[in-house]
Amino acid sequence: MNAVSELTPVLSEEEIRKRVTDLAQRISADYRDESLVMIGVLKGAFVFLADLVRQMTIPVEVDFIRASSYGKADTSSGKVSFSDDTGTDLEGKHVLLVEDILDTGRTIERLIKRFKAYNPRSVGVCVCVDKPERRENDFKADYVCFLVEKGFLVGYGLDYAEKYRHLPAIYALKNSTSEEAK
Ligand code: 5GP
Ligand code: MG
Repeated sequence: MNAVSELTPVLSEEEIRKRVTDLAQRISADYRDESLVMIGVLKGAFVFLADLVRQMTIPVEVDFIRASSYGKADTSSGKVSFSDDTGTDLEGKHVLLVEDILDTGRTIERLIKRFKAYNPRSVGVCVCVDKPERRENDFKADYVCFLVEKGFLVGYGLDYAEKYRHLPAIYALKNSTSEEAK
């Protein structure tokens, strides 16, 4: 079967490009004249961060941290593990965590706590997709590119069992077992 036939389009390349550009302009304005370090949460945010930084109109530093909470399933394991710390000196700088998806909110809650320990001036959060349906806390991201009510999303860096990350647009997986998680 053609892999793309399992997918329902949710956000087109054009929509993504437009929103990412708008968001980069807002972030650039909010942090002008400040030291900003944008930290991509791997693997899912690698495409989003790459697009975002290229539309920024202020200089930024870039680093990454790797978080895994899903393993190979499309329902959260409930556990989040992180790679070693980034090598960047964050003291006195503004940190903006760049995440692919905000779902239950567990990953970001743990990341914020972790990054606050480095005494940055602030820790902000920018997400490509906010999926509020399954949120377990009252966390609100500072910057949200898209709000999507439900579905298991793939493409634009997002995977299902390491597939689909390369697709330039965002799709919902049809017949996904994420139905069980709702
Ligand atoms: P949270 O800790 O907020 O529940 O989980 C966030 C992480 O789960 C995201 O960074 C992402 O890696 C993964 N995730 C949540 N929803 C989806 C989805 O619809 N598609 C994909 N590919 N990953 C998701
Ligand atoms: Mg992620």
